[in-house]
Amino acid sequence: MRRIILYLLLVAASASSMAAQQFDLVIEGGRVVDAETGLDAVRNVGIRDGRIIRVSPEALSGSRVIHADGLVVAPGFIDLHQHGQDIASQRVKALDGVTTALELEIGAPDVAQFLKAKDGRSLIHYGTAASHVAARALVFGAPLPSGTILPKSGPATDQTASAEQIEAIRRRLRGELDAGGLAVGMGIQYTPGATRLEVIGMFRLAAERGVPVYTHMRSNGRIEPGSAIEAVSEVIGAAAITGASLHIVHINSTCVHDSMECLAMVEGARARGLDVTTEAYPYIAGMTQVNSALFNPGWREKLGIDYGDLVLPDTGEHLTRQRFEELHNSSGSQMVLVFANTQELVDQVIPHPLVMIASDGIEGHPRNAGTFSRVLEQYVREKRTLTLMDAIRKMTLMPAQVLERSTPDGRRKGRLQEGADADIVVFDAATIGDRATFQKPMEASVGVRYLVVGGTVVVDNAEVVEGVFPGRALVGAGKRDSAGGERGSKD
Ligand SMILES: [Zn+2]
Repeated sequence: MRRIILYLLLVAASASSMAAQQFDLVIEGGRVVDAETGLDAVRNVGIRDGRIIRVSPEALSGSRVIHADGLVVAPGFIDLHQHGQDIASQRVKALDGVTTALELEIGAPDVAQFLKAKDGRSLIHYGTAASHVAARALVFGAPLPSGTILPKSGPATDQTASAEQIEAIRRRLRGELDAGGLAVGMGIQYTPGATRLEVIGMFRLAAERGVPVYTHMRSNGRIEPGSAIEAVSEVIGAAAITGASLHIVHINSTCVHDSMECLAMVEGARARGLDVTTEAYPYIAGMTQVNSALFNPGWREKLGIDYGDLVLPDTGEHLTRQRFEELHNSSGSQMVLVFANTQELVDQVIPHPLVMIASDGIEGHPRNAGTFSRVLEQYVREKRTLTLMDAIRKMTLMPAQVLERSTPDGRRKGRLQEGADADIVVFDAATIGDRATFQKPMEASVGVRYLVVGGTVVVDNAEVVEGVFPGRALVGAGKRDSAGGERGSKD
């Protein structure tokens, strides 16, 4: 009898020690918010092997327990549009709540090289589109200088491509999708020589490969021909003709004063069954390369701005005509802030139900560090034009659903649910806010207390953890290994 009691005690002890180690990490007592299920309640979250295993009102035990009383626990933010992919940018993104930051607007010039360079060295998850802009430059014999994603304005951007050249561009893009590209990335304004037919050819390729097109559209402004409205018509038309999914980047900075009209066009296309999505960032200035084709003659009339609205990020210098000419004609890749928008417009665009939040982040512009916290501070807490749930939907579920067009891995992102990837942000809704300004663009946001990437804590008590690199590549479902097989055939 004694033996049996002893045995039962041992069983009970080992069961309770198993329970004690049931999870690698538990986030306890936070306000858990998930946009897909509508959950907004105090829950405990149990994480094991990089996945969310339990979301429960019951107590959970883990090797580590984060106490999240009074804090919001949400899926980590997904930034579909992030150019700064260096570690300094990743650190400020992490402190802004971002667990996945993708280079999808235009894409890295060489997908394999991009993925290799980041393998095992990334704080947060990453991935890239296959770049039409870079493929075109290559085919025109003017490959992009390393470290840049945009060409200097010249024959490779301004001339039309022959049928043979268009086919060569498509060949290059197929190879880039084989290498793991998540989409076809187009910056049509940066390749004004691309005809409508060339654009349709790229959409057709995307449709064949089952990946979306992400595009910076052909033009800004109201002057016809060549208005922003025409630019939206062009890409919605190409999506309708080919069946490709379309994601229009930064609708605010392309459509400017016609942003609400452009959003109505996206809404109309969706109502007719087309798969068209869009995004915006919460700032009145854009930023781009001053020697790019965006500043080909006529830009002042098109954008309705002048030389003085262009500002150098490093010095705050407002350009003059002479200074602009000098920089525009230079081969150096000097960036310039473009003050073309108004606060009233940005305030209308951000809360629009079709607009997801994406930063277009790049060093030199505060959007790199502050985009997500800024939306939570300004639109949820101060202006109250967004609920917390709607803001989180724009930063998690909506971009994850766009990502699902490229890879089934997207289905495990952007959700705080059992079975989802353990990419989680824990923040203080009462204090979260951006600190980056045009003068100090790399100031980190405040209010993100913890950030978990694939189950690993990368922001711990508001500090970035040193020496951990849990970021993993997101690659297109069409990635082929070197033997030519489809990805996933072996695993
Ligand atoms: Zn852009």
